[in-house]
Amino acid sequence: MRFPLKLTANLTRYIATKRIRGEKKFPLVMMLEPLHACNLTCTGCGRIREYKSTIDEMLTVEQCLNAMEECGAPVVSICGGEPMIYPEISRLVREILARGRHIYLCTNGMFIRKKLHEFKPTSSFFWNVHLDGMERTHDLCVERDGVFREAIEGIRAAKAAGFYVCSNTTIYKETDLSEIAELYAYLHELGVDGYMLSPAYSYSAVMTRDIFMSREEVREKFRQALGLIEKYNLMISPIYREYLKGERELMCTAWGNPTYNPRGWKGPCYLMTDTHHETFRGFMDETPWEKYGRGNDARCEDCMVHVGFEPSAVLGANPKLGDSWKLLTWQLSGKMGGAGRKADRGGGNGHSDGTGNGNGHSEDWKTAAPPAEIVDGEGRLRVL
Ligand code: SF4
Repeated sequence: MRFPLKLTANLTRYIATKRIRGEKKFPLVMMLEPLHACNLTCTGCGRIREYKSTIDEMLTVEQCLNAMEECGAPVVSICGGEPMIYPEISRLVREILARGRHIYLCTNGMFIRKKLHEFKPTSSFFWNVHLDGMERTHDLCVERDGVFREAIEGIRAAKAAGFYVCSNTTIYKETDLSEIAELYAYLHELGVDGYMLSPAYSYSAVMTRDIFMSREEVREKFRQALGLIEKYNLMISPIYREYLKGERELMCTAWGNPTYNPRGWKGPCYLMTDTHHETFRGFMDETPWEKYGRGNDARCEDCMVHVGFEPSAVLGANPKLGDSWKLLTWQLSGKMGGAGRKADRGGGNGHSDGTGNGNGHSEDWKTAAPPAEIVDGEGRLRVL
């Protein structure tokens, strides 16, 4: 299987229920940003720039949970900022899992080893580690030496403890694709369970615009890239891959991956901010969706990012005959665990793998105090 059985089953049930009810627009993955502060200043990151004036603001766990319930998406991608510096990250994860959701915790990997003891492996939880290349390249992208090594040590520790781990790579204009193939081979040996990748897209907040690609450049780059890495457990759908390679068109379905942060529901999408809505219903009902997407808004012209178009594949926007079969065989044909599968999981890992048991919510989770360099004596977040 490409994903844990429980995740596939829950998503399928959720989509079927929505379709039976006749709902046309609904979310699949909630992008939850409990804070925008980060310990790094990555070159391509729009968040630390766009939200500079509110960078020390955080959502409470209760605000996060209320938003999650309001949204109803079965999968929550916790991102930011760096979510691992959110003081209550382990409680947040625990509470979300207890409500039956699946989590991708998107991190730069710097604090996995330090805080791993606060988490418990479950088939509903993935560490999603950001890696844009091998050591030298990645450290250049994130503008700090040592980040790659610490992220790799975090992955090793998480795998040894029985967690699911995937990686997340952004492809820039200058990305050396043979290096991405090298990175994937390396991660495969470490037992990494899956791989996400997306083309970089220019946020208005990011001034270094020459790192981003036009639509044609994205297609050319992904035709080459996917040829090199298709053999790994890619977690991007075959339909989105066809779109990236220029083999089909997709319509933007930005509502499929709504973003919630300390300012509210970010509209219209993860990338662009025209407004923030107080409620999820307001975000869905008040966003003039027909005004966005290619041909409608100049800012969307070259956008092919996964948050806009991966949901389109699953939600059946611009469907083609055979798409459902393609998606089904893709899910069944994958294989998590990389080359280190047996060695890493041999000692019993606590995963339930879809049986419904062991959802990760356990009272014995430790709630250690956040590291002192992140939070000051009074519990306020330090801006790093
Ligand atoms: S095309 Fe891209 S930038 Fe435009 S609304 Fe969709 S996701 Fe956002």
